[in-house]
Amino acid sequence: MTRTRLILLGTNGGPVVRLDRASPAQVVLVDDAAYLVDCGEGVVRQLVAAGVAPATVRELFITHHHADHNIGYGGLLMGAWVSGLDRVLTAHGPPPLARMTEAFFVMNDFDLRMRAASTGRTALADLVAVEEFADPGVVFEDACVTVTAARVPHPPIDQAYAFRFDGPDRSIVISGDTARSDDLVALAEGADVLVHEVFYPPAIEQMAAVDTQRASTLIEHIVACHTSVDEVGEIASAAGVTTLVLSHFVPGDTSVPDDVWAERARRRFGGEVIVGRDLLEV
Ligand SMILES: [Zn+2]
Ligand SMILES: [Zn+2]
Repeated sequence: MTRTRLILLGTNGGPVVRLDRASPAQVVLVDDAAYLVDCGEGVVRQLVAAGVAPATVRELFITHHHADHNIGYGGLLMGAWVSGLDRVLTAHGPPPLARMTEAFFVMNDFDLRMRAASTGRTALADLVAVEEFADPGVVFEDACVTVTAARVPHPPIDQAYAFRFDGPDRSIVISGDTARSDDLVALAEGADVLVHEVFYPPAIEQMAAVDTQRASTLIEHIVACHTSVDEVGEIASAAGVTTLVLSHFVPGDTSVPDDVWAERARRRFGGEVIVGRDLLEV
């Protein structure tokens, strides 16, 4: 039986909230231990939909501080607490994660005090720890997994990371948001599963044609910070992974059919290609 599993919680790319794809998040499960990567909008609801009780999230990892990856952070803390969190949940990520956590406690001070008093629960502040890191390398290790981070190019963000989870029987890599990166290829070397973000160039050109005022800025941003579906197969080949999972789709609507995403990714990769969708278990 597979002990190290991955569930895609949200496969949309960017901060626009959609019904057809939820905002970025995924969870690695080793037996009953849950390791959450990123907290897009609605992450608690997606965990519940995936059958993972929010209070069982042991460790949380944030790839970078774009809102599509962290806006649900406070909601996750609250969602875990009100559903029975009874031991410390540690959030790992680049700065200013500690300051953001303090700001969440300030923002929700009234509710947190009222709820602790009325239920007798341990104060949430005593159940949350923050481990900031600002360099690549091993960022977490326990009896189930070793988590290694690689810094990835996602300008203008300097502190953007990809994570590799080495579990007892499988290795899973989450790219986060990144342009093509040799450091990510090195991180993913020989991994069983690589979850990589993708955009579809013709759709970007189309978006630019409609919104001519923002066109050049939009295209420049996407090309400099993200990875085209035409490049991602070569990345998976270079890393020698077994399975490539496409996620963080731009566009995240259904205008690009699954077989088009898959066909473009397969052009340069002979392994298994999975077109991600919400709640898919890999
Ligand atoms: Zn993103
Ligand atoms: Zn981003």
